[in-house]
Amino acid sequence: MSPTARIPVGAAAVAALAAAPAAAQEDAHWRALRETMVAEQLEARGISDSATLAAMRTVPRHLFVPAARQQDAYGDFPLPIGYGATISQPYIVALMTQLAGPRAGMRVLEIGTGSGYQAAVLAAAGCRVWSLEIVSALAQEARERLIRLGYGGIEVRTGDGWLGWPESAPFDAVVVTAAGDSVPGPLVEQLISGGRLVMPVNDADYGQVLLVVDKAPDGTLTRRRIAPVRFVPLQRGRPR
Ligand code: SAH
Repeated sequence: MSPTARIPVGAAAVAALAAAPAAAQEDAHWRALRETMVAEQLEARGISDSATLAAMRTVPRHLFVPAARQQDAYGDFPLPIGYGATISQPYIVALMTQLAGPRAGMRVLEIGTGSGYQAAVLAAAGCRVWSLEIVSALAQEARERLIRLGYGGIEVRTGDGWLGWPESAPFDAVVVTAAGDSVPGPLVEQLISGGRLVMPVNDADYGQVLLVVDKAPDGTLTRRRIAPVRFVPLQRGRPR
């Protein structure tokens, strides 16, 4: 056999060897961007919850944005993800996660699945997540993405988040990632006593503010305004 007959085997082997370091380099590239994001955008602004920071360090945000925007994925801003939806700025995702107070095994209802990034961050922080999205195409894409990336413990369903997910209630926390005029009653009902809801609401002074609603063991509700924010509107009606 002539030496050239072995070239395809050799070439395939060389290509395989070359691909391994290239993939490792690419991982290192994105990991470095995530570390910088965590240090400069999160820790520098007071995000201190260890489960939240660990999750933000590991979830590959660049795989939750449109391919053409991957290089911008770790920037300090939201990005459009189609259907009028946006993936929130990393700081806002971290702030809402920290406010939800993630603990291992905690049950969280998310309204507004979008890309699935916030759901993945909550899951990486140890939570079980039920996530509702009103745009069926987004729900479908997010469900497939989360499976592909290996995030278990997340259920995604198409539906109107205003109504919550009564079959799986009660939840330890509810995180709403679209802004409404008021807090939907069913979401408060589906919260355990001692639970917390985090949601942007329309506000006369700031346009929108992030609101925390704590439900005391006796059912009393306490509201706290946290920060001015900008979210897409919480729609009402039938899923599309
Ligand atoms: N959490 C998402 C970002 C969400 S943007 C992420 O991490 O990528 C807000 C999302 O809320 C949009 O996808 C929008 O379609 C969805 N939405 C708006 N109104 C809704 C409703 N009533 N029920 C469920 N989802 C809703």
